Amino acid sequence: MKTLLIGEYREGKMLDSTYELLGFAQQFGGESTLLLVGSETQLPAYAGTLYLADAASCGEYNPDLHKKLILETVQKEDPDYIVFVHSSYGWDLAPRVAATLKAAQVSEIIAIADGGFEVACCNAKMRRTVKPLTAKAVLTIQAGAFPVLQPGGAPAVVKISAEGNGRLAFVGYEPTEKKDIDLAKAEVIVSAGRGVGKKDNIPVIQALATALGGELGASRPVVDAEWVSHDHQVGTTGQTVSPKLYVACGISGAIQHLAGMKKSDFILAINKDKDAPIGEIADVLVVADVMQFVPALMAKVAR
Ligand SMILES: Cc1cc2nc3c(=O)[nH]c(=O)nc-3n(C[C@H](O)[C@H](O)[C@H](O)COP(=O)(O)OP(=O)(O)OC[C@H]3O[C@@H](n4cnc5c(N)ncnc54)[C@H](O)[C@@H]3O)c2cc1C
Repeated sequence: MKTLLIGEYREGKMLDSTYELLGFAQQFGGESTLLLVGSETQLPAYAGTLYLADAASCGEYNPDLHKKLILETVQKEDPDYIVFVHSSYGWDLAPRVAATLKAAQVSEIIAIADGGFEVACCNAKMRRTVKPLTAKAVLTIQAGAFPVLQPGGAPAVVKISAEGNGRLAFVGYEPTEKKDIDLAKAEVIVSAGRGVGKKDNIPVIQALATALGGELGASRPVVDAEWVSHDHQVGTTGQTVSPKLYVACGISGAIQHLAGMKKSDFILAINKDKDAPIGEIADVLVVADVMQFVPALMAKVAR
């Protein structure tokens, strides 16, 4: 099996998600090659072959030109799988490549299963295993689902280029509106999940966050239910955080939440289910009712 991994580069920097592709490739096995539209000054620490196009001439994002580069590399390398990160870059470009190759596409892969790939379904309440039936397939991997693998060494660079304007012009990046809170800078985050039960319980979680000198975080259902604003959401569609202490209150540990907080230095999870997936990454899992445990912890903190 052979994979062609499509790395990412944004605002003059190669993104770390490129190393998640290498983590996927290691788990998948076989041979892999990397393609990056980036810069010679930002090479990945990896000793394999790197097809490198210059972002200064091909654009950081130009779907027509980038697709052309990928298709030319596919012709040379003949990979079985072309793999993207499921980011705004990947979810826009991958289907263009799959459609041109008439290849199957499997999106948002969270694990490799026997002969196939696991993807989340039913709002991530279930997983299903799918298997592409075409000779080549295009894959996108969920951010945070595979380990970051930085093997070290220097790549054997094969320079590639493409010309033309394409049908879309990249205009620029626009930062989102300034948020009231910046979870990315917080050293302590206490997050509320659906397990806290109701909006009226949020002040209890907020009080613990304040007592610990931290910020209030939340899982997506808590935001969707409008118990707290989206500024507080942690995860793939919220913020990515890496505080010294992350307290997960009534949070199950879905992959989309873990992707945003698993780099925290110390994770304390409070969950009434001893088998909740958050336990797999938590340093300490307290099996308790969160609305009993948090006030008791508050009382200790206040002393
Ligand atoms: C495309 C996409 C993007 C997503 N992006 C995000 C994202 O950015 N962030 C995010 O968080 N999610 C995201 N999700 C949703 C994600 O898949 C999960 O559905 C979500 O993280 C679950 O939130 P939760 O853990 O609060 O709720 P649940 O999964 O319902 O878990 C609740 C937990 O609370 C526990 N519990 C219940 N009652 C108590 C109690 N009294 N005391 C203690 N524990 C209790 C339960 O045992 C359970 O483990 C996304 C999903 C999709 C499909």
